[in-house]
Amino acid sequence: MLAISLQSGSNGNCFYVETNGTKLLFDAGICGSRAASRLGSHGRDIRDVDALIISHDHADHVSCAGIYQRKYGIPIFITPLTLREAEKGGRLGKLRDVTCFRSGDQLKFGAVSVHTIPTPHDGVDGSVFVVCSSGKRLGILTDLGHVFSGLPDIISSLDAVFIESNYDPAMLSTGPYPAFLKKRIQGPQGHLSNMESAELLRSGSRLKWACLAHLSECNNSPELALRIHRDISGGKIPFYAASRYAASGVFAI
Ligand SMILES: [Zn+2]
Ligand SMILES: [Zn+2]
Repeated sequence: MLAISLQSGSNGNCFYVETNGTKLLFDAGICGSRAASRLGSHGRDIRDVDALIISHDHADHVSCAGIYQRKYGIPIFITPLTLREAEKGGRLGKLRDVTCFRSGDQLKFGAVSVHTIPTPHDGVDGSVFVVCSSGKRLGILTDLGHVFSGLPDIISSLDAVFIESNYDPAMLSTGPYPAFLKKRIQGPQGHLSNMESAELLRSGSRLKWACLAHLSECNNSPELALRIHRDISGGKIPFYAASRYAASGVFAI
């Protein structure tokens, strides 16, 4: 299994996974041409993608889904509530190939399965994902809300993970965000801090690597997030930070 973060953060999220002849995109928060060119820089053609799977209705995850379908012919997988919310005001445009799933369902693409897991994040019907293929398991876990019941067990089953590490509490509290937004981010339906994420990964006894994702621009830095994770883990596995502005390298699982 190979995976690439095409971008991650509140300015847009998109992850690519290929395994066993199946090519998947998770989230469409960056414009189609950017996703295509970043895949192209790794020798991949976006037109070869078999499915786009959407995590939740926030714009940084779904805003360009309609374009991916109309321009590149990619089928969309989404929950009914997320679809209804995302379509409000005609924001997705005309769609012709949509498959609805319920969070908790297992999606099958040939020999690849994608487990969908509901989250307490403040989307209308958020999900995170575990991609399973040939005995390997990759987590794509952002916009988690908080460390909900069952999440450590999921982490303990994974071989590799993209994991939310959104903010540093001190930077958030002294930073420029309005009070309501600070409260939302730290609240039980917001995002995980560096420390919450690092403590969570202590359950990851099978993990070969972790790529930190959805880092805040104002309230975090890749250096700080990586340092906290490396300190807490005792340096047992390599850590990477997904960029808000560029594709990652190709990670192998
Ligand atoms: Zn987000
Ligand atoms: Zn969100």
